[in-house]
Amino acid sequence: MSSLHPLPDAIDLRSDTVTRPTPQMLEAMARAPLGDDGLDGDPTVRALEETAAQRFGKAAGLFVVSGTMGNLVAVLAHGRMPGEVLAEAGSHLLNAERAAAGLTGMHYRSLAGDGGLIALPALEAALDTAISARCPSAVVAVENTHNARGGTVAGPQALAAVHALACRHGVPVHTDGARLFNAAVALGLSCREMAAHTDSVTVCLSKGLSAPVGSVLMGPADFIARARTIRRMLGGTLRQAGVIAAAGLVALEHMVERLADDHARACRLHQGLRAIDPAWCAAELPQTNIVQVRVDTSAAEARLWQARLAQAGVLVRTGSAGLLRLVTHRHIDDAAVDSTLQAFARLQHPT
Ligand SMILES: *Cc1c(COP(=O)(O)O)cnc(C)c1O
Repeated sequence: MSSLHPLPDAIDLRSDTVTRPTPQMLEAMARAPLGDDGLDGDPTVRALEETAAQRFGKAAGLFVVSGTMGNLVAVLAHGRMPGEVLAEAGSHLLNAERAAAGLTGMHYRSLAGDGGLIALPALEAALDTAISARCPSAVVAVENTHNARGGTVAGPQALAAVHALACRHGVPVHTDGARLFNAAVALGLSCREMAAHTDSVTVCLSKGLSAPVGSVLMGPADFIARARTIRRMLGGTLRQAGVIAAAGLVALEHMVERLADDHARACRLHQGLRAIDPAWCAAELPQTNIVQVRVDTSAAEARLWQARLAQAGVLVRTGSAGLLRLVTHRHIDDAAVDSTLQAFARLQHPT
């Protein structure tokens, strides 16, 4: 199979994580006031943590290197032993991060989904039987937008229902909001509204917002104080981290609203693909910036498509069997969408 190493001028639809820092970010990084984040603190990191927490309506924030670290720290800070992490079957936490069970010592339990959230009856049953099973529920995990479902958005009503049920059992809710900004923009709601029905939340600055590195975990002050200690134990205390937090501040202030452009281009890509082959995509438009293309029912065939597209200068990833996953972002303009559609058309109808 041909190498998938990015060509210099490739159209890179593998993920929005490939976005590079903006000139404004690089300038802010050069000018950022710095300190030692493990000693008396880095002022730029502090500014980022406070700005993010305020934006999401939480008491405190903690800068972490990645979404994965944010989720891991959150699970440990909410955690109890023995204890169970309840997550929806298709969630990133269960699928891409489940090896964390070995690190946390907690049991990760997969529950049936409904619209990307845990189905309420499944959640209720799990919470009800937790005590008799001698493995109390420690945290309920929510993912918004839902990555593996194609960037689908959960709205406030559904989120409130999950939160209310967890609250009744005294169990906190953590939201893996790697792309919560996309959800907020798609619904036209504020970050605060999107985070109103969760006790803690992780957001990624390094995805569609174009920051080079970084995520923020937010929640109650005592929870974040515990999380800060846990982050240190995981080796996550960074020293002059203001160098990267400065880019995160620019991301928060200036890069959220433009996500609407990525969503519009995902819709255009989706419609163009359906025009080539209606069987490729579901009729519903993508809700945010992820387009799923079912080229076949077999994983091998999807990998073949991936390789052929790479030869044509279009980089994509494969999802579950037969699925290609295309993510729009700041470096994908209208011309890149057109070129991508041309590449798909040529491969489907070779002359
Ligand atoms: C990307 C992603 C993560 C992990 O973020 P990293 O910064 O890559 O560790 C977690 N959850 C979801 C839903 C994601 O899309």
